[in-house]
Amino acid sequence: MADYQIRRCERQLEGGIYPETHKALSTTDSCVFVDDPKRLVFPIHFSGGGPGEALVAVGDTVFQGTPIIKCQSGITHVASRSGKVIEITDHAITHPSATKSASIIIEPNGLKDQDYLDPLVWPFDADTLRNRAIEAGILGLGGAGFPSFKKWSDGTQTLIINGAECEPYLTADDTLMRVDTHSMIRGACMLSQSLDIKTIIIGIEDNKPEALEAIESALKESRSDCFFDIVLLDTKYPSGSERHLVWLTLGIEVPTGSRAIESGVIVHNPGTLAALSRAIDGKPITDRIVTLTGEALTAPQNVIVPIGTPISHLIEAADTNPDSLASIAIGGPMMGYPVTDFTAGITKTTNCLLAREIEVPPESPCIRCGACATVCPVRLQPQQMVFALKGGSLDRAVHEGLIDCIECAACNAVCPSHIPLAEWFRLGRFEARDKANDQHLAAEARERFEARNLRLERIALEKEAKRAARQAKTADALEKARKARKESA
Ligand code: SF4
Ligand code: SF4
Repeated sequence: MADYQIRRCERQLEGGIYPETHKALSTTDSCVFVDDPKRLVFPIHFSGGGPGEALVAVGDTVFQGTPIIKCQSGITHVASRSGKVIEITDHAITHPSATKSASIIIEPNGLKDQDYLDPLVWPFDADTLRNRAIEAGILGLGGAGFPSFKKWSDGTQTLIINGAECEPYLTADDTLMRVDTHSMIRGACMLSQSLDIKTIIIGIEDNKPEALEAIESALKESRSDCFFDIVLLDTKYPSGSERHLVWLTLGIEVPTGSRAIESGVIVHNPGTLAALSRAIDGKPITDRIVTLTGEALTAPQNVIVPIGTPISHLIEAADTNPDSLASIAIGGPMMGYPVTDFTAGITKTTNCLLAREIEVPPESPCIRCGACATVCPVRLQPQQMVFALKGGSLDRAVHEGLIDCIECAACNAVCPSHIPLAEWFRLGRFEARDKANDQHLAAEARERFEARNLRLERIALEKEAKRAARQAKTADALEKARKARKESA
């Protein structure tokens, strides 16, 4: 049995909200597999892990597990089913920008052909595990899609499993913690052992008693040497934000602009660790759990879906009521974004499809009630930032703390004027990043220009010195010749 304790979190999240959860909608029925779709869509640059390049061509036959995309970060994405590459074309993608992007389209053939990796045999070191994570396409399945191996620094003290899943409606992580508990615990133990981490914290909200029970029973069967510290969190949004989770469970404040890893802490989603466990056995990520939920669905539930499955296929599977459907969003009601083109395929970071009945009420002017500032978990003044952004002053918004905003949308949820504050902040942060990037690129160009000028100046000086030396040598030779002529005369 692994050594573990269960304790209640003694810290309080500052700000935040207690939204209506709606989680029971999708947890009444058990998690099931969805039939394979007729086509699978894999965006080359937006599958997670950064821009990529296609490793296959139209007409190629692929197996489940065949590498099809290599990202600049090194991460490899594989075909989730065996079949044929029928097209590489611009296609709708699941991304907040709602743009089209180059995508690989695969037509599954229904066969079970697999192209898996060789299993890793314990003991293995952290570099071996990093390479395996790259080959198996392991990235944060909680939404951000950050390549997991980049978090695995030697000397890290603690691993936190983020079991908070505080977004209302979402139950994909809760489901995984209940049905795939052993894989999650095994992935966490393997990672900890290879990095010499002794303590694994499981931060879990107190509205997930069944997941907690499953974790306890898995730990009782585990023979891991790691110590498991299970921290029960108040069910308050956004406890699952990385910075807040580190603070709640460890009391460590992660400075703005830095990641938890820079404070010696790795935070992983339960699904990421379960995927890592399978990758150790040779299986890259080909499927994930997606919550299909919302009042506009007749059969909301969690499903196991091949990566690349078009949204339309899932809407059909969940039996959507077209009369009451007002909108479909990827993710939860807080941080999700709307989708309009249902031919887009799910990616590794698609955790939820939310079909709502209600239209968002129209926006009205700010009444300066201050409710948004009261709930902001990073103590910002959202109303000031939005005034600045609406007035076109990005600099002022940045001065007000725009860069600290975690885009949690707690402010949206309480705004009586229905101002889409978080959407403004998301766009503002994009723009600020672009500007910083441009400034960085301009500074780099300036540096290159100055370095080039210095180099040219140095070459000119060297040339001048050589010319002067040559002149002196010639003058010396002439002088010697003149002297010689004089002496001979
Ligand atoms: S979206 Fe930003 S400003 Fe609004 S509550 Fe969250 S952190 Fe604060
Ligand atoms: S909650 Fe809405 S109305 Fe109230 S101050 Fe903030 S932005 Fe204005």
